[in-house]
Amino acid sequence: MEENTEQVVTIKLKLFEPTKTKQDMYQTMADRTTDFANRYLGVEKPMRPKSSADAKLYTEPLPAIVLNQAIRDIEAKKNAKSFKRLWPDFNNQNFRVEKETLQDGGAAWKVSFPTLEKRVGVPIQVEKYQIKYLELLLSGQAKQGTAQLIKCGRQWYIHLALTVSVKAEKKPPKYMGVDLGLIDLAVASILGSTLFFSGAELAYVRRHYAELRKKLQKKGAHKALRKLGNKEHRWIMAINHTISRRIIEFAKAHGVSVIRLEDLRGARWTKSQRKKQRKDAGRSLHSWAFFQLRQFIEYKAALAGIEVELVNPELTSLTCSRCGEVRTSRPAGRWYTCPRCGKVKHIDANAADNIAQAISGLSEEKRAKTILKPKTRRRTTAA
Ligand SMILES: [Zn+2]
Repeated sequence: MEENTEQVVTIKLKLFEPTKTKQDMYQTMADRTTDFANRYLGVEKPMRPKSSADAKLYTEPLPAIVLNQAIRDIEAKKNAKSFKRLWPDFNNQNFRVEKETLQDGGAAWKVSFPTLEKRVGVPIQVEKYQIKYLELLLSGQAKQGTAQLIKCGRQWYIHLALTVSVKAEKKPPKYMGVDLGLIDLAVASILGSTLFFSGAELAYVRRHYAELRKKLQKKGAHKALRKLGNKEHRWIMAINHTISRRIIEFAKAHGVSVIRLEDLRGARWTKSQRKKQRKDAGRSLHSWAFFQLRQFIEYKAALAGIEVELVNPELTSLTCSRCGEVRTSRPAGRWYTCPRCGKVKHIDANAADNIAQAISGLSEEKRAKTILKPKTRRRTTAA
């Protein structure tokens, strides 16, 4: 028996070296979109503009389709009181991905979208793992959702949502929980077997880079500093690829059909606990590194026909995965010891077991734009 599963993935496409003029324009669009969102929220509900024509009164010039999409995005966030940032968003009719085959057989990728002046075509820097998705899109096997123009660090990106259809055998689901980044970098657990990825190596290399950075900073060597940053970035990306690949291989080898990750917008610890925890673990990894690792896990799961579900992270580190006892405080060190049944387990493995079982339920919010959140609709195609 086979069935089709649809997954929504968001891929993050880096705009390739946009000119200063273009970057300034993107920034202006983002500022105006945000201003518009906040003015819109300031208007009483029945009086709010419903179309771009009405909306024009509340904003400095923006393309009509950006305004229309902004209204949809604002309305989708029912409880929003204000927006620190609302990025310009383009629906599938106004955003295009194009591929140009080069003479040497390679390909150049481009996206185009409306701006303040005219429609622009912008080259994008495509990672290998993104090509599969873009090819699916061009061949009509993936459906295009919205595309958001986002600035992250100094770079501009397009976050493109795609709906991909994957065929899967129908059988009772088998769950795997993945815990990211407390003591160990990643821990995958299928009740009974556990896969660990130590963060030690990563911590060592990051310290190494941090020292080099300090030296260069003293010398004021800006160019060398930037180069170092790129090198470190590539190195972390390579590690994340390896880890995510091995997690998916582990899942496949065990017939896992659903990978469960924590919805990290909920907090498992308080902020200060989390900070301390990261420090204790000897690393202060940039959050983008974890974000990227999650993304890689989700892409690769989607390609392997494995669903990804987000679970509520509450109590996953405090609960005994065997008997359900809840400790009142975080276990000190690496081991979770249960005061009731006496079970002793590595705290991340215990957490991963709890994530696999979704002890606090699935995450309430099914899908957010900037964080990759696959949504599953099951549709049986054969009886
Ligand atoms: Zn117990």
